[in-house]
Amino acid sequence: MKLIFLGPPGAGKGTQATGVSSHLRVPHISTGDMFRAAIKNETPTGLEAKRYMDAGQLVPDSVVVDMVRERLAMPDCANGYLLDGFPRTVEQARALDEIATPDAVVDIEVPDERLLARLTGRRVCSKCNGTFHVSKVADEKVCPVCGGELYQRDDDKPATISNRLGVYHEQTAPLIGYYAGLGKLKRIDVGALPLYDGDSRAEDVFQAILASLE
Ligand code: AMP
Repeated sequence: MKLIFLGPPGAGKGTQATGVSSHLRVPHISTGDMFRAAIKNETPTGLEAKRYMDAGQLVPDSVVVDMVRERLAMPDCANGYLLDGFPRTVEQARALDEIATPDAVVDIEVPDERLLARLTGRRVCSKCNGTFHVSKVADEKVCPVCGGELYQRDDDKPATISNRLGVYHEQTAPLIGYYAGLGKLKRIDVGALPLYDGDSRAEDVFQAILASLE
């Protein structure tokens, strides 16, 4: 199955994509994770991407599309994949259509007012890449899953977050209409799910996604 996860930053795409991809046994391909790995390894792509990421802007389409095209040509993608964070512009969606049309596009919708708290409190594990909210971990520096060190992404600082939300509404949200028009869209309204401690449970979102794919 070829899937796309769409949604604003902080919607929980990464967490859900990890669960759903292992449930469906397809690789989880996150362009954000690929860029962060490239930055860590100081590759030319990483150096170029960093300038845009630090400003909360999108990396140019040509750079992202080439990187994704190479990744999708790898043997583990032969039976499908889950794309998380790609495409992010209509231009990228058109380029993807030329590589392979997705079977379904899961749009995870979270009201803006909840995104800010989720993003500023988000911590990422430097070892397993898991993401956690500070309010849900015993020690805000230690990963509850693997014991690795938790850190805050540079682009999760308040100044960059508002840019990222603006970029999402301007450049990525039009993809909702694009994929609805192709009859591929599965809409998950997280705002309509029950709240626990002021937020929805990841497990409820996961079940709603699986149900939408049946
Ligand atoms: P993410 O981890 O998906 O939130 O991505 C972090 C950052 O990486 C984004 O704010 C962009 O700067 C960059 N990025 C990730 N995916 C894309 C994409 N498909 N197109 C352009 N930039 C991207």
